[in-house]
Amino acid sequence: MSELGPGTRVIRAGLPEPAQGEPFLPGPEFAAPFHVTGDPYAAPHAYTRYGNPTWTRYEDAVGSLEDAEAVLFSSGMAAATAVLSTHAKPGSVIAMDAGCYHGVRALAETYIAPNGVELRLAPPAELASASEGADLLWLESPSNPMLEVYDIAALAAGGITTVVDNTTAGPLLQQPLELGADLVLTSATKQMSGHADLLLGYVTTRDAGRAESLRHWRRYAGAIPGPFETWLAHRSLPTLALRVERGCDNALAVARLLAARDDVEAVRYPGLPSDPGHEVAQRQMRGYGMVVSFDVGSAERAERFLAGAALVTDATSFGSVHTVAERRARWGGDAVTEGFIRLSAGCEETADLLRDVESALDAA
Ligand code: PLP
Repeated sequence: MSELGPGTRVIRAGLPEPAQGEPFLPGPEFAAPFHVTGDPYAAPHAYTRYGNPTWTRYEDAVGSLEDAEAVLFSSGMAAATAVLSTHAKPGSVIAMDAGCYHGVRALAETYIAPNGVELRLAPPAELASASEGADLLWLESPSNPMLEVYDIAALAAGGITTVVDNTTAGPLLQQPLELGADLVLTSATKQMSGHADLLLGYVTTRDAGRAESLRHWRRYAGAIPGPFETWLAHRSLPTLALRVERGCDNALAVARLLAARDDVEAVRYPGLPSDPGHEVAQRQMRGYGMVVSFDVGSAERAERFLAGAALVTDATSFGSVHTVAERRARWGGDAVTEGFIRLSAGCEETADLLRDVESALDAA
């Protein structure tokens, strides 16, 4: 399938060969144990913590989008825990983007660093120097929620095992393995599943040994996905390209609207030519994503905007068919101002969304 465009590949990714009277995508297979007589390792499936056919179909699907092996977990954070746990040993040095998802930073600081691991949290401009002599480099591009863009190829060229959290872009917009990364983390909670109704995460790699050690960790840590969530995500995959295309168009339109207003500051969207990350994003991305960030001046004005917009749901997360936004400072953990809003453009009609955002800002 690799000669086909990504929008075509997602339609049949991971589907079994057509068989007379069988559905296109078989239903979720709910089983704790499977019937097994004799050697359990010789059976295709023995116990779902060791493997489940519903996972395998989805792993084949998402892996094929990056020409890689995919290992699926119960959430993006479980995938991050798997990568850090299998790569950080006492004495290891991890260089990490200080602006990466706050959950990953909290995990590294609270549970990884105390085990004799040196954690170097570095701002964007210092990440390359912080990674000198490190064993693992962790970055996120574009980052959540600041939307900083990192030059993945340049950072991965340092030869250090490089992990890219590709959640905000996803595999259709950015291929970090092609740019030299060793491991790619994707929270499939976001646009991969796209309907704000489940949590899942996965790691892709072209290194069979790394994939095997992630599967081994999953088996014993037990951070396993449920077959139903996995099936739902697979069920949503064929529309990924359409959803992402509309979401990117809407995000760019919203970013342009925001950038043209005097009462909105610090608009960040890698697709705006004025954005500091635009030039690098243009080189390494096929589209600029669904997430826009901006500052409306104060917490009160941000809350008024969110309350007044009918098509912008006040909620966390991103990548859904619904436009959502939130005042990010309400969570703590990120270096953001009180009026900072992260907005994820959904699949509404562009004119409707723009009218709604504009009138809610006017009234805020
Ligand atoms: N990475 C990024 C960039 C995220 O934004 C998130 C969640 O928002 C995660 C990882 C964690 O994913 P999950 O919520 O599926 O555990």
